[in-house]
Order: sequence, then C-alpha cells, then structure tokens
Amino acid sequence: MGLLTEGSPLSWEETKKLSEHVRQHGITQFINLYRRLKDRQGDVLKWGDEVEYILVKFDDEKKIARVSLRAKEILDVLQEKEAKNPEQVRSLWRPEYGAYMIEGTPGKPYGGLLAHFNVVEANMRNRRDEARQLLKPGEDLLTITSFPRLGCPNFTEPPVKPTPGQGASHSLFFPDDAIFPGHPRFATLTRNIRQRRGEKVAINLPVFKDKRTPSPFSEKLNCEGGDCEAAKPDHVYMDAMGFGMGCCCLQLTFQACNINEARTLYDQLAPLCPIMLALTASSPVHRGYLTDVDCRWNVISCSVDCRTTEERGEVPLQHCRFHIPKSRYDSIDSYLSPSGEKFNDVPLVYDNEVYQRLREADIDHLLAQHIAHLFIRDSVSLFSEKVHQNDEEDTDHFENIQSTNWQTMRFKPPPPNSLIGWRVEFRPCEVQITDFENAALVCFVVLLTRVILSYQLNFIIPISKVDENMQKAQKRDAVRQETFWFRKDLTTSVSPPVATSRCQLNDGDVYAPMTIDQIINGKDGEFPGLVPLINSYLSSMDVDADTHCTIQQYLKLIQKRASGDLLTTASWIRQFIHNHPEYKFDSVVSDHINYDLLKAVQRIQSGEQPCPELLGCCIQSKTQEKVPAALEKAESCNGEL
Ligand code: ADP
Ligand code: MG
Ligand code: MG
Repeated sequence: MGLLTEGSPLSWEETKKLSEHVRQHGITQFINLYRRLKDRQGDVLKWGDEVEYILVKFDDEKKIARVSLRAKEILDVLQEKEAKNPEQVRSLWRPEYGAYMIEGTPGKPYGGLLAHFNVVEANMRNRRDEARQLLKPGEDLLTITSFPRLGCPNFTEPPVKPTPGQGASHSLFFPDDAIFPGHPRFATLTRNIRQRRGEKVAINLPVFKDKRTPSPFSEKLNCEGGDCEAAKPDHVYMDAMGFGMGCCCLQLTFQACNINEARTLYDQLAPLCPIMLALTASSPVHRGYLTDVDCRWNVISCSVDCRTTEERGEVPLQHCRFHIPKSRYDSIDSYLSPSGEKFNDVPLVYDNEVYQRLREADIDHLLAQHIAHLFIRDSVSLFSEKVHQNDEEDTDHFENIQSTNWQTMRFKPPPPNSLIGWRVEFRPCEVQITDFENAALVCFVVLLTRVILSYQLNFIIPISKVDENMQKAQKRDAVRQETFWFRKDLTTSVSPPVATSRCQLNDGDVYAPMTIDQIINGKDGEFPGLVPLINSYLSSMDVDADTHCTIQQYLKLIQKRASGDLLTTASWIRQFIHNHPEYKFDSVVSDHINYDLLKAVQRIQSGEQPCPELLGCCIQSKTQEKVPAALEKAESCNGEL
C-alpha cells in the first residue's frame, strides 16, 4: 500500500452525501490524467514485491502464541529511518490493516536485468532482519497468510476484548483494538463498510468435517450484546473486516512500456490469478477451526462486502441503483485489451452516464467500461481535508474508488507528478513461510510477463471461466484434486482465429480443463507448460551462472508444488495439525496446536528446521543483496529482460 492520505475521516452519513461528488470528480480526474498520460511511451520494466508480515508473540512457558499489537511501535521506528534517508533505505515499510501487521517492499523497484532475480530473496531476508531487530524477546515476524486462532478468546498480546454491537466492527470476536491504530483509514473503512451494508459483514466458511467433528457442526456462540443471525450450520462464522483484511498476502507490481502493454499484461495475467491462488494456498485454518478451503480469498471478499441486501439481490431494488454480483474485493470483471474483448462474457454493471462521460472524453469502450464499473462503488473512506480538490492535478477522488476496488489485478495509471509509468499489480498470491518461496513466486511471475510479451502468448479465456476457476482454486487441495479451465493454444494472439463474435466462438476449441501440473509443467504433445516456456525463453539469453542457478531452484520449487511432489503450505499445515498428538480429529486447532504449528513455521522460516515435504532440498538460495557492479554495468548486452 502506498503512503496513506492523512486527515480527519468523515462519518458515514457525511461520506454518503458526498458519494456523487467523489464519483463525478474522480471521473474528471481520470479523464484529465488520461489526457495527459495516454501517450506516455518508453518506460522500462520496473517491478517490486510487497510482503505482509504478522507479528507473533510466543509464550514458551504456557505454550501459547498470540498476535502482538506492537506493529505501530515497530513501524514508527522503521519509517523514521526512511524519512531521514529516503534514497538510501533498503526497505520501505507501510501499515496494514491489523495492529499486528506490517508490510515491506524493496527500497527501490527492481529493473530489467536478469541478475535482479538474484537479489530479491536476499532483499526479503534483509528486510525481515531489519524489522526483527526491533522485536522484544518472544516476538517474531512470520509470513503466514492467516493467523490460525485469529478471533479466538485472548488471541492478542496484550489481551484486548471485542465489543459486540459497538465500535467500528461490532464483532463478537475481533476487537477494534486489533485494528491498526496509527491511521484512521482502517477503522473508518470498517465502520463505513458495515454501515453501508446495513449490518455486520458475514463470512461463513465450510468447516472441515473430520472423524470427530460434530455433524451438524453448530457452534454455541455467545451473542450477548451483538448478533449472530448470519451464522450458518456446518460453517465457521466470522463477522468482521479484520478476518479478511487481517490476512497477509504477496503482491507484485510491474511497470509497462506504455498503456497498451499495461492493458495486455492486465488481461494476460488475469486467467493466471486462480492458478497462482491454488498454487500458493496457505490458509486452511480460521478462528481456531480447520475449514474445507485452503485460501483466504472468499474470507477477505466477504470481509469488505459493503453491498446492501438490494444490491446483493436478496430483495428487489428499491433504494439502490444496481444489482451487483460481486463484492468490491474479487476477481476482475472485464478484460481491457482488444484480444480480451470477445471474452468479456459476464454482463458488466455500470452507470451509463459515467460511461458516456468517459466515451465523450475519447476513452475507448473497454477502458471506459472498466473505469465506469469500478465507479459503481461508493467511497467508503473520505477525509475532510480531501473533499475539495484541483481536478487538473489531484487524483485523490479517482484513487479513493480505485484503491477500494480490491481485485485480483489492478490497472494502475501513473501517479501525478512522478516519473512512474503505467503499471499493473498482480494480487492473488498467498504469502509463503520462507523468503525462498516468496522470492521464487515473484521471480516466476515476472519471468512469465517477459515470456508473455516476447512470445506474444495469449492466456485469455472467458471471464466467467476465470470466475469458476477462482472458486475451484480455494478448495481443499485444489492443486492436486481440481482441474482448471485453461487456454489450449497459447499462440493464437499472433494469428487470431477468424471467428470474432461471441456466438461464433466455439468454447471447446479455446479452452479445456487442465490440472495445475499440466498448466505449469506441460503435457507431452498437448500443452507446452509455463515453466518449459520460461526455460525456452531463458535459453536464448545470456544468464550469469549464479542467476541461472537461483532461477532454476525457483522454477523447480514451482514445478514440484504444481506436480504435487511438494506440499502447498495449506496441505503442510493440515498435515501438521493432523499429526499433532493433541489433535482430537474434531477440526479444533487448540492454543497448544497453534503454538507448536507457529513454532515450526518459525524454525522453517529461519532455516533451523529442514522441511523437505514443503521445500524439497533447498531452504534458501545463495543470493546476495546487490547485483555485482560488473553485471549492473553490462546492461546493454547480457541478460537484459
Ligand atoms: P500499492 O498500490 O499496493 O499501494 P505501492 O505503490 O506501494 O503499491 O507499490 C508497490 C510495489 O511497486 C512495490 O513493490 C514497489 O517496489 C513497486 N514499484 C515502485 N515503483 C515502481 C515502478 N515505477 N514500476 C513498477 N513497480 C514499482
Ligand atoms: Mg498491503
Ligand atoms: Mg499492493
């Protein structure tokens, strides 16, 4: 997350009154920005990762692990360094939703040299070490997607209590004091989303039915002071934004050479989002229970679902303008590039007046409908200082809506007055335990973008099929059990098929169900596989020996996860719990199991404990923090992406 706007948040009533103001000015700002920047050319590849961390406090005597609410204290110190020396810092640190979370990015984005792949992991390691220096005894910084006992009694250190029916969340389980306290944005979003919706958010994840899990599974919830009407039998019920936004993820941003390349990358990466979600699945436990899903996605999607009952289609439309099929946190709804156009098979909701304004400003249909669709959402966080803006220069109202459409991909225009170009953000991945795994994923996706561009590959399938894949991706052990819709012939964009209209499109010809193993590793004579394609691309390049070795280790990890030879993090967590002597086969992840699990995570992360079932033979690559000067200088010839 970029630097957050400071100021005094308006109440929901005030924000609601200004929602048309934000929308109109946001669109004007986008039009002005587009006019200024649409022809911007020649930006080079730059990219960077974002890693989110959970601060955990271990009590080794009681054998209990809790989230530590000290993120702000730590962040203040880390950000002070940046303020003093913005050019020199190796890492940048930002707040995240939880009072127990921080987010770190590299000090500067990486560039277009292959040798940069040899720096990513070391940068992640140093980043982690830098923050770890500020920890107190018993604390550690873990890259786990979900804290398994989030929302259980006394899951925080210091212990703070939920306030059912009161405060920002009204939650039975998640205390407002576990929301990051250093910036009003987080609590304001929480309150406004709940108020806009007209009730608490509701998350119901199917419980994993083990041998001794009661059936039906229905928890005796203490609803005193609050309500739990939305809780469903056989599901783990959660009722706060913190359950989703309090999870961690791994994100990536790339700069494209111009707007069209950004649109192409946005489209081409969209079908890969569910595949990468399944491959990075890491969060099978929520609120102390094993669930039947492996990923955070639906949790976070429901956790910020501000739609009213009318918008959700539960009652007829009366006061609201649209029936809206998805939460503002979800998979993308339309493609942006010409090759994507005929695969936009899901009706797109947007305000026709907004769309017309964009069209009149000479913005093409695909981009206009994308922006108009984002702008069906109301602002859910507005600061009094930001209400009146100069639409020629500011983009805050545009960013207000853009940055609260949390989709699998984000199409990012250049910020005002900066040297930054058109970018896309890849947002589905769950964060992994080790820097090695996170670096492997990041390098894999960046390499894939290069392969897509240089071979002009086409991954596009109908949006409705991507949506189906998103749901499959979250199922338990999806990597080994599911098939996913995937494009059979990746080369068609160079020589497009003759059929162009949607009805002429013969579905069966374009895509087929494939396993993740086939998608990543290929299938003889039928499908090339993403890693073999990357290797073919690399074989034409001059790669130095160290970088080659690092990249190959990363690709191997991805391949073995895809083939099922190595476990996903989610499967490993399930296995750990299953084998724990205190596990009663009732789906309950007790304090003690949680402690032992997170201790094991800590040892695996630090390299103290090998975990061949998760990592194979490697635990980290011998990467270094800086690209050797000799390589950095040799820009023009060797190993340029
Ligand atoms: P968010 O939109 O998620 O708040 P940020 O603006 O904080 O994202 O940036 C996220 C990532 O973008 C970081 O990893 C950073 O290194 C990277 N980044 C910064 N500048 C550029 C650039 N010019 N091109 C591509 N990535 C960049
Ligand atoms: Mg973040
Ligand atoms: Mg981000």
